[in-house]
Amino acid sequence: MNAFDYRAPRSLDEALAILGEYGEDARVVAGGTALVTMMRQRLVQPRCLVSLRDVPGLERIEANGGLRLGALVTHREAEISPLVRERLPVLAETFRRVASVRIRHMATVGGALAHGDPNQDPPVTLLALEATVEVRGPRGARGILVAEFFRDYYETALEPGELVTAVTVPSLPAATGAAFLKFLPRTADDYATVAAAAIVTLEPDGARCREARIALGSVGLTPLRATSAERLLAGEALGEGLLQAAGEAAKTAVDPLSDHRGSAAYKREMTGVMVGRALGQAWEAARRAQARP
Ligand SMILES: Cc1cc2nc3c(=O)[nH]c(=O)nc-3n(C[C@H](O)[C@H](O)[C@H](O)COP(=O)(O)OP(=O)(O)OC[C@H]3O[C@@H](n4cnc5c(N)ncnc54)[C@H](O)[C@@H]3O)c2cc1C
Repeated sequence: MNAFDYRAPRSLDEALAILGEYGEDARVVAGGTALVTMMRQRLVQPRCLVSLRDVPGLERIEANGGLRLGALVTHREAEISPLVRERLPVLAETFRRVASVRIRHMATVGGALAHGDPNQDPPVTLLALEATVEVRGPRGARGILVAEFFRDYYETALEPGELVTAVTVPSLPAATGAAFLKFLPRTADDYATVAAAAIVTLEPDGARCREARIALGSVGLTPLRATSAERLLAGEALGEGLLQAAGEAAKTAVDPLSDHRGSAAYKREMTGVMVGRALGQAWEAARRAQARP
């Protein structure tokens, strides 16, 4: 690993000034779980690491109508937070499924977004939840929908000198259920072969779907929404045939890479299976939510 300067600013303004000073030679470091590996492999050779650990406020989980998770919240904190578990259990479950507990204690919410790895789990559920990434840069603050944040393979909408400060997640409507499923046939702490998040909102009659959202991970250059499958569900009643049709439609939305987690054809096939299962679970959860007084 190359020698580098290490800076630990105490405010966001100070962090932005250091990023400006070093330009492309600086890298933000959060949990370091991805960055340190990339540095060891000399895939990146920053002259300066800018740690966010001493910047106050980035470690907070807050209720703001929905939820707001600061960039430095660790995966483990998101997993066990009573607030996240109560408001958006699907998000806590998603963080629980990441890697091992050791990694989850280090990896952060901001790192999971900024890294832009299409095999990560949290971006899938955040995409389905229609969350917004909060960003600060030399020209001020802006919010970017997760749907617009991932641009290409390991490429995000972050401009030079910008950093992720938080992600905000709207709350779910009434009579809504959600599920996150991760298919990983090798080991329990592996990246997904296919990951699927589904959200189902029921009509007041409880029998038909008003709206469905489906997001997928590990099956394209970015996490993606299966909108053609979503459209099939609106106004329909749950049935095995419908879940199968949605799974078939989702298969047309993906463009997986063949790798040691499976061939492209296998991942496409498993996409259909996982979408059907995730929708079935989300639908059941929606029914339970609707039955609650
Ligand atoms: C063995 C292993 C297994 C894993 N398995 C999984 C898995 O199954 N599922 C899963 O979802 N994840 C998994 N991960 C975690 C994931 O791949 C990333 O390592 C992690 O999300 C990165 O978070 P971090 O805080 O450690 O980021 P860092 O390593 O600190 O940074 C990663 C990148 O993001 C940038 N960055 C970090 N924070 C910010 C910020 N606030 N603003 C701007 N840029 C920033 C850095 O400059 C760097 O480019 C695994 C990691 C390891 C090491």
